[in-house]
Amino acid sequence: MDFSTWNDVFEHENKVFCTEIISNMSELGKKALFLDRDGVINHDPGDYTKSLQEFEILPHVIDRLHQWHLAGYMLIVITNQGGLGKGLYQEKDVDAMHQYLNGLCLARGFQIAAFYYCPHHPDFQGKCLCRKPGSLLIEKAIHRFGINPSESLIIGDKQRDIDAAAAAGVRGILTPTNAVISLPSQQ
Ligand SMILES: [Mg+2]
Ligand SMILES: [Zn+2]
Repeated sequence: MDFSTWNDVFEHENKVFCTEIISNMSELGKKALFLDRDGVINHDPGDYTKSLQEFEILPHVIDRLHQWHLAGYMLIVITNQGGLGKGLYQEKDVDAMHQYLNGLCLARGFQIAAFYYCPHHPDFQGKCLCRKPGSLLIEKAIHRFGINPSESLIIGDKQRDIDAAAAAGVRGILTPTNAVISLPSQQ
């Protein structure tokens, strides 16, 4: 490089510095597909899914999740489990469902990176920030994994899923309850 003035030197240094910052930011900008659980991944009968026996995975879900994985999205479940707060089932039941689901994914060579659930019910524990439409769990995931919200999406079957994501800067796809979720190419 040929620098005739100090100004040229500063301009050069500045460009190099900015390029490095930008390339680091793109490395940090992982994209995620956030997923509501009941009515999106498993059949929602209209109330709580209390046990592994009641956890009925919807048709084609594992295929669809695999497609999103292949498209470069980290998969993260964000779910309200107010039934825990009501005492209808226990955390071990929730964990069993999530392990079962992740087992099906692992058998296909991918996984769900994390499951976040709110264990509260407003009638029992009062208002909390983690129950959707609260955005706390989505924000936790964004910080834990270095996710870029503007490149990420949520699929949910309730407006509160979409509202929770919007509060964290994530675009939402509202899907009918118990329908087949869309492919990444359809977004
Ligand atoms: Mg739902
Ligand atoms: Zn909560």
